[in-house]
Amino acid sequence: MTVRAVDLHRPVLYRAPFVVPVTRPLIEDGGVLVDAGRIIQVDSFRRMRQETSQVVELEAQIIVPALINCHVHLELSYLADLGSQALFPKGDITAWIRALLVERGQPAPPEEIIRLGRAALAALYRRGVGLVCDVGNGAVSQTIADDSEAECLFFQEMLAVTEKAAQSVLAGIPAGLQCTAHAPYSCHGSLLVELKSAARQSGRIFPIHVAESADEIEFLQGGTGPFQHFLTERLQQVGALVDGQELSDLVSIPGCGAVEYLSRLQLLDSQTICVHAVHVSEAEADMLASTQAKVCLCPGSNRVLGVGKVNVWQFIKRHILPGLGTDSLTSNICLDLWHEMQVLQEDHPDLLPELIFAMATQGGAETLGVTHRLGALAPGLEAKMLAVDYRGSIDDIYPFLVNRGREITVSWLEAGSVS
Ligand SMILES: [Zn+2]
Repeated sequence: MTVRAVDLHRPVLYRAPFVVPVTRPLIEDGGVLVDAGRIIQVDSFRRMRQETSQVVELEAQIIVPALINCHVHLELSYLADLGSQALFPKGDITAWIRALLVERGQPAPPEEIIRLGRAALAALYRRGVGLVCDVGNGAVSQTIADDSEAECLFFQEMLAVTEKAAQSVLAGIPAGLQCTAHAPYSCHGSLLVELKSAARQSGRIFPIHVAESADEIEFLQGGTGPFQHFLTERLQQVGALVDGQELSDLVSIPGCGAVEYLSRLQLLDSQTICVHAVHVSEAEADMLASTQAKVCLCPGSNRVLGVGKVNVWQFIKRHILPGLGTDSLTSNICLDLWHEMQVLQEDHPDLLPELIFAMATQGGAETLGVTHRLGALAPGLEAKMLAVDYRGSIDDIYPFLVNRGREITVSWLEAGSVS
């Protein structure tokens, strides 16, 4: 299959043994008609407007929409050993945070952080990811996606557990910088409210780590557990917590779960993305559904950190289609979304593979608010499409796409740029 010979200034009809529109049933001997980077028609080949088009015949391949990675930290790619070798005790998230802080405390050349972040983003693109939501802390992180083939939405992540520190953080945010909050346990309530308010005013999404570990919930509910020790230690180190003071004097401890806390602060709406959402009660799942808040699952990271398996059915039965994210290489063995689908299927053998594939595409588009242009193969959407090698029957397509992980062979269909 040589697509490069095609004149992308004229309509192109891609024909393949199978087409996966995602929002419609599978199509056997299907076609996708593309013009100026947009999809014009998706149908069986015999019903397509063949006389107006150049035809690209794909053999033994499936056409699928580009994948969407809803949560990654590209700037941490230079610390990949932390995730691949699991250099921390499983199930102890504060131990992982301590290990991460030790690693980040070592001097690292910014050009190296950028180089490895870009390599990770390029690898994501090669593996079929067309859109990434990237979260970073460092100033260097803003430049990682420059000149990337994959589209990247970047957010600078803020954290400050005390009100005083939160005021200082807010005062230092440069105009125009897209910011978000790290997590309910690492941000004072005032910081959460202000950051969400700014996101609302500019109409942008608000990704935040929520309910990742049981330890997080224990701390938010009662101010106890590993996070109490961790935050006490950190605040003592910087002199913010002095003798005679209680941690609860300085830090927000709402006395409820993470999602309920966000609900009380009126932070939940259709542009808030709850990343991880592993420890969510049924009542909290109702809050997510009623506010149309979004959910991003990170099954690979959850497995490496040992924080538990997400209760995915509590979202599905409320008609929330989550997106998928890999999180960073410090808490995952790779950033491959095919692997992420495989892990989710292993964790939930009762989930239909087509539902998992929908999460990696349509669910990602819903989560990031881009269904008007990505997430499926349908007229009017951008022609960001992949060809996946496949030699099976129509019945095995979804199990194949979801269960092969890094064995999947994928290439981009060069459909030109959107005009
Ligand atoms: Zn993360």
